[in-house]
Amino acid sequence: MSGKESLIRRPDGTIWYRETLHEKDGLATEYRVSQVLFDSATPHQRLIVVDTDRIGRLVALDGATQVTMGDEFVYHEMMAHVPLLANGAAEDVLIIGGGDGGLAEEVLKHQSVKRLVMVEIDASVIDFARTHLAALNRGAFDDPRFELVISDGKDYAASTSAAFDVILVDSTDPVGPGEVLFTRQFHGDCRRLLKPRGILVTQTGVPFLQPAELASTVGNFAQLFADAGCYLAVVPSYVGGFMALGWGSDDRANRAVALDVLEARFAASGLATRYYTPAVHQAAFALPAFIEEIVEQAKRAGRRG
Ligand code: SAM
Repeated sequence: MSGKESLIRRPDGTIWYRETLHEKDGLATEYRVSQVLFDSATPHQRLIVVDTDRIGRLVALDGATQVTMGDEFVYHEMMAHVPLLANGAAEDVLIIGGGDGGLAEEVLKHQSVKRLVMVEIDASVIDFARTHLAALNRGAFDDPRFELVISDGKDYAASTSAAFDVILVDSTDPVGPGEVLFTRQFHGDCRRLLKPRGILVTQTGVPFLQPAELASTVGNFAQLFADAGCYLAVVPSYVGGFMALGWGSDDRANRAVALDVLEARFAASGLATRYYTPAVHQAAFALPAFIEEIVEQAKRAGRRG
């Protein structure tokens, strides 16, 4: 369990939260803290929740920033609305991870969604999110369409017979409990759960600092899906530039939905967003050359098997 040095008390009496995810590579980020709400081990990981002066309430697991109130809208809107508006008629959605509830809140804004199953390994994160992150999950946990399963996502995906239109893997990074969620086996099990026209989207890190996370996921997807790749968003507290979201689907049309169709679906959805727009949706699949190279190399390697 890492993140021991995540809270630093300075001689001037100030307290700073230090993200240690990239410290081994010589990079650390610090935020001045106005209040420490929680700092302890859960059965699975170390959970820290603090109020910061610059980016609001922040949740960290094992020294890695998970979500902040200041910029959560970017990640949650792009992880929810891109696949849901691309599919256009999603009724059954599965979230693996997502314990803070921010992604669930965005998914449940879609009237087409009839059932949202969320499989989270750590009940403490949910308990905490209910009490200290209500401004983020806004009652999502009490929505009649919401079903919570406390389990390892790997076991759920391997054993359930349920079928989904969209699967969203909102996990920690591939260390500790999140490691299994980056395996070929798990991605294969997720594909088995998808309905026709189904879409799998996964958290795949920040390519500039974590290229291996994207490469391994896209390599798996290239073996499993007709259409494998990623789309991008910029989340300020996920340091290092673009955040990549892995994309896997057997229906290539999901990625190629015309702008006017996306605009019509967005207008009909009544969604009010701060990051997502239909134009941003389309642009998110246009990859800078260094990320395109990671994706294309991974696809070639994946298809060579
Ligand atoms: N958006 C964040 C990110 O990109 O880093 C992730 C946020 S969410 C809080 C991550 C959740 O994944 C945590 O609540 C963690 O407990 C959960 N998780 C990690 N490994 C898991 C597993 N094997 N099965 C289910 N949930 C898992």
